Amino acid sequence: MSVRVTDWVAPDKEPYYLPAGDEISIFQQCHSRGLSVMLKGPTGCGKTRFVEHMAWRLKRPLVTISCHDDLTASDLIGRFLIRHDGTAWQDGPLTRAVREGALCYLDEVVEARQDTMVVLHSLTDHRRFLPIDKTGETITAAPGFQLIVSYNPGYQRMLKDLKPSTRQRFVALDFDFPPAPQEAAILEAEAAADHATAVALVTLGRRLRGLRDRGLAEVPSTRLLIAAAGLVASGISPRQACYSAIVSPLSDDVSLVGAMRDLVDATF
Ligand code: ADP
Repeated sequence: MSVRVTDWVAPDKEPYYLPAGDEISIFQQCHSRGLSVMLKGPTGCGKTRFVEHMAWRLKRPLVTISCHDDLTASDLIGRFLIRHDGTAWQDGPLTRAVREGALCYLDEVVEARQDTMVVLHSLTDHRRFLPIDKTGETITAAPGFQLIVSYNPGYQRMLKDLKPSTRQRFVALDFDFPPAPQEAAILEAEAAADHATAVALVTLGRRLRGLRDRGLAEVPSTRLLIAAAGLVASGISPRQACYSAIVSPLSDDVSLVGAMRDLVDATF
């Protein structure tokens, strides 16, 4: 099976999420109105964490599916499995979420093929049903079911995009890297970084993001800054932590790596 399902999240412990604006209340409204939601923003800026947090708030189970280009409709819906005593139908993660009234989160949805996305359409209109051609069943979504997709508009923009007929079925929430004070607070909370280190890492992160204009395709995400902060908190020197957790993962290009290392050295 090529679908990753980060199984049902038992919402007993609050997933830490620092809001940037009114995304929590907009999402809650969408949930109560049965509207599907699209989260747009760069990788590592908090989209997945937001969904986990909302599942906790709404007390719904969460099914997370990472999309990739050979994800088929059967991977989402289910298939007949051949067993020694015949064949048995096995629900896919989407069907399971529809039956159980879960939040179903499709991460990096543009990676999936367009024909796979079409199976979502009947779930996003007011009827909220899922036809399963192979069994002849039509399942109406249980109360609480909600479809959430995420995508990174900057990434492979020219190669892949969502069809207009798909994207118009969603309410879109725009995500971006948090403002500096919030991002520093996230580093302190997530990596037990001290305040001064968190502020310095965030300053560095913002300078490195400025290198996008010089050809850096992927800029450092909050996730990378957290990784560096974690190394510093465990005793690694700040420079080495930044080289290993931020600079090296982002590029192999000698001149870009040199420029990034210079910025690290100027910061720490
Ligand atoms: P995305 O889904 O956008 O690729 P994630 O949600 O996985 O990114 O975010 C990466 C990490 O950054 C999270 O695991 C979390 O530690 C942290 N993070 C980013 N934004 C926030 C936020 N607003 N509140 C709390 N943690 C955040």
